[in-house]
Amino acid sequence: MKLTIVGCSGSFPGPDSPSSCYLLEAEGYRMLLDFGNGALGALQRHIGLYDVDAICLSHLHADHCLDLCPYHVVRTYSPDGPQPRIPVHAPAGAPARLAAAYGMPDEPGLETAFDFTALTPGTFEAGPFEVTAARMNHPIETFGFRVSYGGRSIAYSADTGESAELVTLAAEADLLLCEASFPDRPGLPAGLHLSGRQAAEHAAKAGAGALVLTHLVPWYDPADILRDASRGGFGGRMELARSGAVYDLG
Ligand SMILES: [Zn+2]
Ligand SMILES: [Zn+2]
Repeated sequence: MKLTIVGCSGSFPGPDSPSSCYLLEAEGYRMLLDFGNGALGALQRHIGLYDVDAICLSHLHADHCLDLCPYHVVRTYSPDGPQPRIPVHAPAGAPARLAAAYGMPDEPGLETAFDFTALTPGTFEAGPFEVTAARMNHPIETFGFRVSYGGRSIAYSADTGESAELVTLAAEADLLLCEASFPDRPGLPAGLHLSGRQAAEHAAKAGAGALVLTHLVPWYDPADILRDASRGGFGGRMELARSGAVYDLG
């Protein structure tokens, strides 16, 4: 299983990264976790334009889902002809919300290109992957994911405040992609995002093998986020996400 970080910028794109998008590959199957604004451009550095087999959207904040709209254009109006519909696992409101964002009526919406399935907590198959979705702690319905293949697992927090569900989802995962949006300061709002320290605490409680800090918001210094995380009691390998980074889990 190979993970490529396409976009890791939190809340809005930065100069060096689009918003959230992670590419997982195994047996030639290619699945995206989130498709935030700007990600479709950077994605083409890594795979062909039509090579996405499935998409999981954690939630319907713009920085996690908006590039499904331009990707509808790609799959529908290609000079090579319309491309096969692909599965999109997303919160229940996704078809109507993304149709509105695109500027088309609910029917047929984006369903000519995408086969939407409403996420619920639990496990489903996507190609060779086993995907587990769990509700996170964020102001709108948000799912974290755990993707397993060949005895290895990657967990992704999506956007979340402190969450026991995240600890369970990431239990003994080989790698936890965990959001670290906030500098570690007193009085952080609850139920929204994590600091680097809190991300590391979740990774430690889960017993994850490695921690990649992501959803890095461009107006903060990532070196501060990493320093905060070093105080979270996590003993494994820990680093900042970077657009273009590749993790090969064998
Ligand atoms: Zn976000
Ligand atoms: Zn969000």
